[in-house]
Formats: sequence, structure tokens, C-alpha cells
Amino acid sequence: MTKPSVAIIGRPNVGKSTLFNRLIGMRLAIVEDEPGVTRDRLQALCDWNGREFTLIDTGGLQPATEEELYENVEEQAKQALFEADVLVFLLDGRDGITPGDWEIADLVRKSNKPVVLAVNKLDNVHQENKAVEFFALGLGDPIPVSALNGINTGDLLDQIVALLPPKKESPSPLKQLRIAIVGRPNVGKSSLINKILGAE
Ligand code: GDP
Ligand code: MG
Repeated sequence: MTKPSVAIIGRPNVGKSTLFNRLIGMRLAIVEDEPGVTRDRLQALCDWNGREFTLIDTGGLQPATEEELYENVEEQAKQALFEADVLVFLLDGRDGITPGDWEIADLVRKSNKPVVLAVNKLDNVHQENKAVEFFALGLGDPIPVSALNGINTGDLLDQIVALLPPKKESPSPLKQLRIAIVGRPNVGKSSLINKILGAE
């Protein structure tokens, strides 16, 4: 039985990995004050009020660039966008709406996925009104959050869970087999996993 999935998307450096870590309650994703640190999709199981879902951190979506690394990151982020059940579109409340945000808003609309608009880096209640301008993206009510100190992340989780597809009860849940691939660095562990999964 697969769990519904929720992808955090947005431009690089808006705080996706910080939010990911905050929501799963662990420091799993690397957070850097530099765009492009998260490359692969990273996922972890999340539980809120008894609803479980897989949360996915992505490397970020940004306007077309020549760099090959970014092409791959972008590819991964788009894949997450089109595979997820629910999207969290994260924005930087200090930057306001940027051209890149408009491009991502178009992708979100084309995906037809339920989306929660979260405006990050609003670290105290006096800044919450900065979220209002993001209403212009036409994707619903923006919710002000601070991934750094946790403001409104409970409300955000409530909204995410409300958009999840209905729970499918399975009469006899199969216990999932978990396999670890171990070995020295550079022996080809990641290549083997990619081959088995048929994905990067
Ligand atoms: P990503 O590229 O979208 O994954 O962004 P990161 O999570 O790596 O964060 C980019 C930078 O923004 C880091 O310096 C974070 O510490 C900072 N940041 C993330 N969330 C917040 C927040 O809620 N408030 C503030 N002030 N900074 C934040
Ligand atoms: Mg990141």
C-alpha cells in the first residue's frame, strides 16, 4: 500500500529543505545559504494527526539555465511535481513575487494538483501581512510560515492533510520489506539503485 506523496517545490533558496527538516522533525536535508545544494529528490515519511504521507524535498525550480547540473535538478523537481498527490509551493516572503515564481505558478496550474501556497521567512507575527501579495498568483490563500522557527507549520500540515486523497483501508496490510544496499564508496551502489528503480 503506497502512501500519498507531498512535494515541496519552489525556487532555490526559499527554504524548502529547512521546511522539509522542520516538518519531518529531523535534520535530514542539507540547508545552505547558497542555491543549488539540494540536487536529488529527498523523501521521508511524515505523520500528522494519524495521516501518513511521504514528504519530498526537491532541488528547486528556476528559470532556464545552461548549467547541466541545474538541468538535472530541474528535471527531478518537475518529476516530483508531476508525481505528487499534493504540492506545497514555497515562496520567499522577503523577496516578494519574482519572475521565477510566476513560471512555477504556471507549472502548478498545468499539473492540476491540489496546492498549498506557503510564504516562508516571515519569522514574526508582524511580518505575516507580507504573505498577502502572493494571493496574486491565483493559486489560493497564501499561508505565512517560518520554517526556521516553526510559525504556522501546524496550520500548514492541517491544510496539506486536508488535501490528501481519501485513505484507502487495506484489510491485511502487507509488511513492507526494507532492503539496504551497503558497500564501500564508489562501488556503484547508487547506479544499482537507479537501475532497479528505473529512475535517477
Ligand atoms: P532551499 O534551497 O529552498 O532548500 O533553501 P534552504 O532550506 O537551503 O534555505 C536557504 C536559506 O534560507 C538558508 O540560509 C536558511 O537558513 C534560510 N531560511 C530557510 N527558512 C527560513 C526562515 O523561515 N526564515 C529565515 N529567516 N531564513 C530561512
Ligand atoms: Mg534545498
